[in-house]
Amino acid sequence: MLKRYLFLKKQDQIKKENLHEKKKIFGTSIKRSSDYAQALMELGALICKPVSPNCKNCPLVKKCKSFKNKNFDLVKFKKKDKETFYKLNIYKKNNHYLLIKNNKFNFLKNLNIFPMEEVNNPKNFDKDLNLKMSNMSMNIKIEFKNKYNLNKNNYWIDPTKLQNYTLPTFTKKIVKFLESHK
Ligand code: SF4
Repeated sequence: MLKRYLFLKKQDQIKKENLHEKKKIFGTSIKRSSDYAQALMELGALICKPVSPNCKNCPLVKKCKSFKNKNFDLVKFKKKDKETFYKLNIYKKNNHYLLIKNNKFNFLKNLNIFPMEEVNNPKNFDKDLNLKMSNMSMNIKIEFKNKYNLNKNNYWIDPTKLQNYTLPTFTKKIVKFLESHK
């Protein structure tokens, strides 16, 4: 609704902190800030609807820049994915790869992934591949390891029989990457 009222069309105008600042046009009384917020939400839900704004019944019509410009398009911007970094440990035996049940990361919970660890704020991270997941851009470095400690959460998969396993797409993509870079 603010986007229309103020005719905001550029991404930097729509940053949260800018919008907080611009909300002040409705009043600066701290005591009434929750009333302003409520009024904004109701106007957005009942009058300035995304598809057909009801300008005829809008109390802000006189000062509304979208109404003045007769342009009601709402510009949507894709959120930038968060860059994350992981070291992936590959254990290989008799042409099988070792996977573990994920009880470490919030994504792909309880699903089978390669053993991996997150690297925070790395310098010169030399990634081997990049995969997108939800709002993450995952930079992955692959390291082959020899020693492994098997436990009940580990098991080996045959990369030529992926269809026999229940695996997340994330893991399948990594297997395919490994197989095509042998
Ligand atoms: S006048 Fe129309 S476009 Fe402007 S805020 Fe009101 S409903 Fe939205």
